[in-house]
Amino acid sequence: MPTSSPINYRLPQVDVILQYPELQPFITQLSRPVVVNCVRETLQQLRQSNTFKRQGIEGINVSDLVLTSCQYRLRQRQTRVINATGTVIHTNLGRSPLSPQLWDAVREVNTGYNNLEIALSNGKRGERKGLLSSLLSVFAGSEAGMVVNNNAASVYLLLLELAKGKEVIVSRGEQIQIGGGFRIPDILALSGAKLVEVGTTNVTTADDYLNAINENTAMVLMVHQSNFAIRGFTESPDIHEVVKGLPEHVLLAVDQGSGLSSETLSQEETPLNRYLQAGADLVCFSGDKIIGGPQAGIICGKASVIDRLEKNPMMRAFRPSRIILSLLEELLVQRLNQCPQAQGIAQRTVDNLPVIEARAKELAELFPDYCTMTPLQLIVGGGSLPDTFYASWGVTLVIGLPAQQVCDALRDLPTPIIATLRNNAVILNVATVLDEDWPILLAQLSTYFSQFNQE
Ligand SMILES: *Cc1c(COP(=O)(O)O)cnc(C)c1O
Repeated sequence: MPTSSPINYRLPQVDVILQYPELQPFITQLSRPVVVNCVRETLQQLRQSNTFKRQGIEGINVSDLVLTSCQYRLRQRQTRVINATGTVIHTNLGRSPLSPQLWDAVREVNTGYNNLEIALSNGKRGERKGLLSSLLSVFAGSEAGMVVNNNAASVYLLLLELAKGKEVIVSRGEQIQIGGGFRIPDILALSGAKLVEVGTTNVTTADDYLNAINENTAMVLMVHQSNFAIRGFTESPDIHEVVKGLPEHVLLAVDQGSGLSSETLSQEETPLNRYLQAGADLVCFSGDKIIGGPQAGIICGKASVIDRLEKNPMMRAFRPSRIILSLLEELLVQRLNQCPQAQGIAQRTVDNLPVIEARAKELAELFPDYCTMTPLQLIVGGGSLPDTFYASWGVTLVIGLPAQQVCDALRDLPTPIIATLRNNAVILNVATVLDEDWPILLAQLSTYFSQFNQE
């Protein structure tokens, strides 16, 4: 090869690259301007690379580089994934999936105009929450109910309106952080309320609360220990004892968190209606944990208190959209009518053990060389029922590759499969694989395993 041959530094033009047939699906899914940016960035990086400076475009596949960059962007887009982790309400995977039938049911009311803030009875301005107040009251057994964007907003709003400039008593065992940086002491400080800590990490008694009360106390706040449990010698006060001793000017609010409404999922946890029956003025919880609805913060309790919260100016920032309100409304109507599909995903999963076992068996039989049936556990997750484990089944993958590499490859499939690692093995917990995802999981695994068959 003559060493004098001139180096070719001419890269294809952006417009020419945009015509490549293999790029067209990315334009559809990412938008043309975003793909243009990918192309420009790729060319820019290429020009600065040492290989290019040395040998020009010789041996460089521009199309491949652009595709890799587009592929990376596409993976940033919201994508359906298959949850094989065994954590039902998985914070990183969108918490509660809504049932498709619920989603379809609210299509009409969202794709046209609706009566969000008009009273159809008289044509005057109406209340945004509409029927939800009645539905929530029945659901929680409270005088009234209201909805905000998420439960962090519930806690902030009730502190801001009811305890600003006053004292709020919280047990030392409940000064918790939930997920990404939601810390009870911080929220308290931001709302302008003053935290008064009582008890110890493992023991707080009714007297601890009652002895801390003075004329400047606005509230006793009990917070569910969402994502952890303290075992061994612990004591939490009987809520009745606390209520009995509370003076008139002190409210009792409970951040119940999960929205657990009955004892069927766990006998150890207190369902929200029991707090209200015991005399709590307010309970708040998330819409997308155990209830299995859209992301929302729900506050139920005494009508006079809910009324005050609704009139707080910050409510303008916390009010949910009609999409959320309509989903919640439909879910609660179905739930109160005891439709099985209106059970949250947690209850439906826990009730599904025979199917879970049969599916694990199916995997082990379909792919005997790669899958070993394994007894597992499932947890509700998402900061609900931290200490409760339910029976589950799954498979351990036996492939002879580093476990992390297998996990990465599964996440790279067209419909990513999210597995977990345990003792350096890849585990697929089938409890959390949705019915609609099951055939997709099988087909994808079949393709994935087939590459190891060829020797
Ligand atoms: C989950 C949880 C929150 C936060 O709720 P979001 O809906 O995520 O804002 C607050 N408190 C408790 C006790 C929780 O479990």
